[in-house]
Amino acid sequence: MRVRFAPSPTGNLHIGSLRTALFNWLFAQRHGATYIVRIEDTDKARSTPEFEANIMAGMAWVGLNYDEGPDSNGACGPYRQSERSYHDGIHQVLDSGHAYRCFCTESELEAEKAAADAAKRPYQYSRKCRHLSEAEIQARLASGVPYTIRFAVPESGDLTFEDAVRGSITFDLALLSDFILAKSDGLPSYHFAVVADDIAMGITHVLRGEDHISNTPKHILLFQALLPAGQSMPTFGHFPIILGPDRTKLSKRHGATSITDYQAQGFLPAAIVNYLALLGWSAPDGQEVQPVADMVRQFSLERIHKAGAIFDTQKLTWMNKQYIKQLSLADFRSAVAPFLDPALMADIANQISDDALDRVFDSVRDSVDRLDQINTVLAVYARTDAQRQEQLSDTVWTDAQKTLLAAVYDALGSLSEVSDKTAIKSALMGVVKALNMPTGLVFKTVRLAVSGEVSGPDLTTLLSVYPMSVLQDRCRVIIHSS
Ligand code: GLU
Repeated sequence: MRVRFAPSPTGNLHIGSLRTALFNWLFAQRHGATYIVRIEDTDKARSTPEFEANIMAGMAWVGLNYDEGPDSNGACGPYRQSERSYHDGIHQVLDSGHAYRCFCTESELEAEKAAADAAKRPYQYSRKCRHLSEAEIQARLASGVPYTIRFAVPESGDLTFEDAVRGSITFDLALLSDFILAKSDGLPSYHFAVVADDIAMGITHVLRGEDHISNTPKHILLFQALLPAGQSMPTFGHFPIILGPDRTKLSKRHGATSITDYQAQGFLPAAIVNYLALLGWSAPDGQEVQPVADMVRQFSLERIHKAGAIFDTQKLTWMNKQYIKQLSLADFRSAVAPFLDPALMADIANQISDDALDRVFDSVRDSVDRLDQINTVLAVYARTDAQRQEQLSDTVWTDAQKTLLAAVYDALGSLSEVSDKTAIKSALMGVVKALNMPTGLVFKTVRLAVSGEVSGPDLTTLLSVYPMSVLQDRCRVIIHSS
């Protein structure tokens, strides 16, 4: 089996494209198929090497490795359409009578379109040039009239194919225009290049987005005209469209759509892969958060949904949080490293010793659902004593709070090792018990006294960051305040 992901480098790697790439990859992994990446850059005006580089980098970032592609030495290259010549294939279709030269000018075609619009019928090329005599053709060629090459679509009848996702689909050929195979500069159209490449690369499964369903009858006709003896038609399968929350096609209006943006916001590649796999597919075991190896084991085209899949940033963010939680502390620290603000880290270094940094990061691990939030949650550790006292200047401390802080002061004093979270926790619980005060009140008061904030990192981890004397000083200021 051979499958391909065939992006056009006319933009950065898009969420929808990556979902197509992923489903092909899961299919390939599941079945031991060869996975091919093909760059479809026939649209010279819109394709750029930068977009291609962005697409390839995005694939690498999420771990979608491939067997054959632009940077491999696969046997079926070139894997960039701009590097392949389609001339012979186009002439093969022309010579076998499946295609013809169309000498119609732009303005003639415009007039046909305008007439169709005026009559409110769908535009279809009039097929004027389909019936030119050999002499008429030769005369135009001799005088150098430019021409395109069009496929001669059968004028009536049905074309049916079995879609691996959607079942049987039938098209009325009478509604299909004679589509262009080669433009007047001789370059192939998208339709021709796709089919020629799928044949040259021995593709067995064409798996792509639903927006290509209407292209499939054209492609099937071309396959029928071009397939060498012994090679069979690939299986087609179309994935459901990705919608925004308002059920219209996902677009920039709905927020970020490029993988680069999600990377910059601090989404983990594994979370993106997991979330995208659920956009139109579900595992038979019903698990949502699952390692990619489990998805590979369970993936099948039969379980791909027909209905459009709604892209839900909140769910993706939730998924990201699950993956952040699973990281080891060391992995968490390296994942957030590119997001850290050096100025903030310098301020933290002025307040906190290096050996407490692991505890600093450990304390904020559960507070971020995107890595780019790291600076906000770390800010509490950067404050100077003066800044914290300023923050607390309007706080009125009740006698009960002062009493409990005095008890906390003593309890901390009895600890030999303040960095031990379990010991800190039991010291606080000892105060709760001894004073018979609500746990919430004790924890909130201690948090406010020590950090100047009403909420923030896990309290016992936060306390474990500071030397005991610092914690006691912060309590003492309040105990003796008026
Ligand atoms: N290059 C096409 C696209 O980016 C994909 C063509 C195909 O998968 O057949 O939409």
